[in-house]
Amino acid sequence: MIIDNNNIYDLVPSQIVQIISKLNDALKVIKERKQTISKVAHFEKHKHNCPYCNGTNFIKYGHDNGVQNYICKECSRKFNDLTGTVFAGTRLTYEQIDTFINCFNDKVSIRKTVKRMKVNKNTVYLLRQKMLDAFKIVRENIELNGEVEADEIYRSINLKGTKRNNMPRFSKPRTSKGTSTRGISNHKICIMGAIDENDSMFLQIVGNGPLTSNMVKTSLTPKMKNIKKLITDCKSSYENEAKNQSWNLKQVKSELYKDLEGNSLANINSLHSGLTTFLTPFRGVSTKHLQGYLDWYIFEKILNYTCEYDQHFNSVLKTSVTNSTNINSLNMNDNFSGLDFNAIYADYNYIPPTLN
Ligand SMILES: [Zn+2]
Repeated sequence: MIIDNNNIYDLVPSQIVQIISKLNDALKVIKERKQTISKVAHFEKHKHNCPYCNGTNFIKYGHDNGVQNYICKECSRKFNDLTGTVFAGTRLTYEQIDTFINCFNDKVSIRKTVKRMKVNKNTVYLLRQKMLDAFKIVRENIELNGEVEADEIYRSINLKGTKRNNMPRFSKPRTSKGTSTRGISNHKICIMGAIDENDSMFLQIVGNGPLTSNMVKTSLTPKMKNIKKLITDCKSSYENEAKNQSWNLKQVKSELYKDLEGNSLANINSLHSGLTTFLTPFRGVSTKHLQGYLDWYIFEKILNYTCEYDQHFNSVLKTSVTNSTNINSLNMNDNFSGLDFNAIYADYNYIPPTLN
């Protein structure tokens, strides 16, 4: 119902009472949402301390776009509930932040989110990158215990969002005519994955080409704590590192195979296959930003295991306000994959076309 001055005087009193009651309800919901974001942001981030000097002596100092500002009496610096969070410096209202988190959780496209938030595309895109960066904390802190299943997957490189002159190869991959098709191509990226008996899990880009012992050492080993058993497929890269670390290694023959002791790779296989489904709505994620999406996938899986859907909003909000990020509008298009695409595609001898 849209009320304007033209028809408001045509309403009968009972309709006006009805509208007032509906507006009051809406106001209550909006105020509650505002309070949730402001409270979570405030308590989680600052714990009642100034984010600059950690002082406790600060006072309210007006509002900016509905966001409460403070001034610290110890260091005289101004801050608000969003300082040091993913939403710092965005000048968004609490309602827009609320809309963003809901769209983000439901994987609403950037284009539709732009419409709902009434902001420009870059703002939404930047916010998404910042959120994904905030999720990396989960991977960095994860510990694997007890019985662990580990396996790697390979994905093609996606150069989406790379400027034409920075392209390490032609946009369409050439066919592999004349080269060996045996084994894993060096043009594939390798993603290490592991899950333990308590559903602690991670996925991490470890390099290009087939898995090496060194990739196992740098990605899996630091996360292994009190290990009873490590189950993998028969690759020697796992064998070498298991020897070095004295892990109780059980290698099963194939993905579907269960050995006599009942060891299988069912859990890690299901983690890997779920990733494909998770990535589908994004219609091709660029490799330079893929790690963020891997972290998002794991974050969402943990949420699904630990809380009901209606609590996802607060968990995502909490993570986004308790973790700062170094992503900004200047570096958001950088390559965060840790891979050097020019080196990977060096064998293509690609020279970008020039205009005469
Ligand atoms: Zn201060």
